[in-house]
Amino acid sequence: MPVIAPVVGAVSLFDEKIENDSLPRILADIGPNCTRCKLHKARKQVVFGVGNPKAELVFVGEGPGADEDAQGEPFVGRAGKLLTQMIEAMGLRRQDVYIANVVKCRPPENRLPERDEITTCSPYLLRQLAVINPKVIVCLGACSAQTLLQTNQGISRFRGEWFDFRGAKLMATYHPAYLLRNPAAKGEVWKDLQKVMTVLGLQLKKRSQ
Ligand code: URA
Repeated sequence: MPVIAPVVGAVSLFDEKIENDSLPRILADIGPNCTRCKLHKARKQVVFGVGNPKAELVFVGEGPGADEDAQGEPFVGRAGKLLTQMIEAMGLRRQDVYIANVVKCRPPENRLPERDEITTCSPYLLRQLAVINPKVIVCLGACSAQTLLQTNQGISRFRGEWFDFRGAKLMATYHPAYLLRNPAAKGEVWKDLQKVMTVLGLQLKKRSQ
């Protein structure tokens, strides 16, 4: 598996494992009125994560947008609809996988999450991943990939390659919001998802004529 240059001086994300941790406990630890970072000022609600708590496949985005902030569920806006199509193209349903974000509160004006926000919130994502213990993690876009791999390399340098993440196989691919702006990149993402399908033993559905 390729080696990737780590961020110098990055905060260690490899915290101690919490005994008997669970998704409800993590959600309770965050709390509905979290003020640990400045994102709390403009968000409507904490957007924790959704899906199968025993999923073999987890998708990780960067942070909720306006639709997610309003509905309290990750990836329900335009990019979310495309993610749902990607999941269904793999022969799965949204409820078969788990979907979460690096930060649980909406960054204002849909800006990228900032370093201090990621440092504050990503331990909850790490706990979610530890509890779910998926076989495969797909990072959607640079933010989640750089956070989990602790690198600041551009995503195009390592997209589509496998990495080890605490015993799970991790792959980064382009974010569905990027695909909405650059539909020509959909083919590359589909190639990445086919690699994921191979690892999960999922068959490609034959198209009806
Ligand atoms: N983009 C993300 O990264 N996450 C969401 O939940 C929605 C859009």
